[in-house]
Amino acid sequence: MLALKFDNRFIAELPGDPEEGPRRRQVHGACWSRVLPTPVRQPQLLAHSPEVAALLGIDEAAIQAAEFAEVFGGNRLIEGMDPYAACYGGHQFGGWAGQLGDGRAIILGETVNAKGERWELQLKGAGPTPYARRADGRAVLRSSIREFLCSEAMHHLGVPTTRALSLVATGEPVLRDMFYDGNPEYEPGAVVCRVAPSFIRFGNFEIFTSRNDTALLEKLVDFTIARDFPEIEGDAQEKRARWFAEVCERTARLIAHWMRVGFVHGVMNTDNMSILGLTIDYGPYGWIDNYDPDWTPNTTDAEGRRYRFGHQPHIAHWNLSRLADALLPAFPTPDTLHHGLDRYIDVFTETHSAMTAAKFGLHRLKREDSEWVAEAFELMQRAEVDMTLFFRKLAEIDTAAPSLAPLAEAFYSEALREQHRPAFEAWLQGYAERLRGDGEPAEARRARMNATNPRYVLRNYLAQEAIDLATQGDLSRVHELLDLVRKPYDEQPGRERFAARRPDWARQKAGCSMLSCSS
Ligand code: AMP
Ligand code: MG
Ligand code: MG
Repeated sequence: MLALKFDNRFIAELPGDPEEGPRRRQVHGACWSRVLPTPVRQPQLLAHSPEVAALLGIDEAAIQAAEFAEVFGGNRLIEGMDPYAACYGGHQFGGWAGQLGDGRAIILGETVNAKGERWELQLKGAGPTPYARRADGRAVLRSSIREFLCSEAMHHLGVPTTRALSLVATGEPVLRDMFYDGNPEYEPGAVVCRVAPSFIRFGNFEIFTSRNDTALLEKLVDFTIARDFPEIEGDAQEKRARWFAEVCERTARLIAHWMRVGFVHGVMNTDNMSILGLTIDYGPYGWIDNYDPDWTPNTTDAEGRRYRFGHQPHIAHWNLSRLADALLPAFPTPDTLHHGLDRYIDVFTETHSAMTAAKFGLHRLKREDSEWVAEAFELMQRAEVDMTLFFRKLAEIDTAAPSLAPLAEAFYSEALREQHRPAFEAWLQGYAERLRGDGEPAEARRARMNATNPRYVLRNYLAQEAIDLATQGDLSRVHELLDLVRKPYDEQPGRERFAARRPDWARQKAGCSMLSCSS
């Protein structure tokens, strides 16, 4: 039996839409609309995260019971669940997009675990809501596997993220355009249960300001502070000021983590930015293989490359600026908002610098280090070097006699390696000298580097291989990858192949490099 305790504050304390059900509409004066998941033909549990289940207090017997797949496939509610979709807007690709909202995500309720922690349970792909516009409200298996695996991978990497409890097949086909070939294709459907303390996005605030609804904006701001930032103290205005600065700081740390692990979100629209500073909405995301700050995994963004890897710190600041614009009516002057945005820059700079230092095995970067650090990234880009392997193997460099040998497997092209060998060897000499000057014993330095530079990341082609197998009914790879990503910093004997460079066949194959938004 699934025994969960619910305390649904979002719908209890904020105004809702008087109309219920999935009829597509513009929703004014409300933060949410009541809507039920649309039942599916044959819910079947494909995978679950034991850590998230434990977090919620769900035991193994309850997971294996038929009820679990029915609840988390959207066919059954348990006591205390009161499903709704949230109303939000957003800036998409730099322009205001109006009302967006949970078009296929439905929040089942806010559960409170034994420790008193609050977790929202949200089904993604649970059927249409008032916010679905012309879309079907469903999600395909491939994108659901990607979201399920990557949220858990990010968590274990130490990156703030929404979590994933379960992956349930619906037994129903979903119609999608497959990539560029133009042929509509039916694909298996699935539902992921996402879990986070809150799914509120920047866009939840923007929508009310766009409609001149300052009263509701202020209500949502104060609700968010009270429920999700209870540690913030002061009078009402002080709380708001500290809260915005805190949102900016959390966002700064989030982006620094993405840059550390080589994660590219791909769709950093303001509706995909969590107010808690979590990674949210795993769509056409990707991981850097050969280091390239201009790379984006999103085919929809291939022209403008707005959401390319190296642009993420700037885009996060732009997004926070849109949030600040939206919050202005709730603040007496813009000064506090400017202060928050400055906090973003300061905290990002500090955190990114500390993480970069750790990646190179140093305690901190000095001013004069910036040149050789920049040179390392330039060389990696020019010589097409795998970012993850480079940093992992850098820990093995012998500072007394540095050579390129330990780094050999990080190169995608022998020709480029040989072409850039002299530059790399010169760089390694300088780097080794810097480490010798630091005087830290090699063992301690290696341990620190290996705790910040992952051995295993969810490379795009690895997820795609698991998807291809799952589509044929074989879930073993999904389970193996879920297990693999639990310990991303450990050597896992027998699993070296999952740490290897992206193979040549995967460079252009659909799903292995670029992905489209529609999924
Ligand atoms: P995204 O680009 O995934 O962040 O989605 C942007 C908006 O489109 C959000 O409001 C989603 O809820 C909505 N959306 C995306 N896919 C679907 C779908 N298959 N059915 C209904 N709404 C969708
Ligand atoms: Mg989204
Ligand atoms: Mg999405």
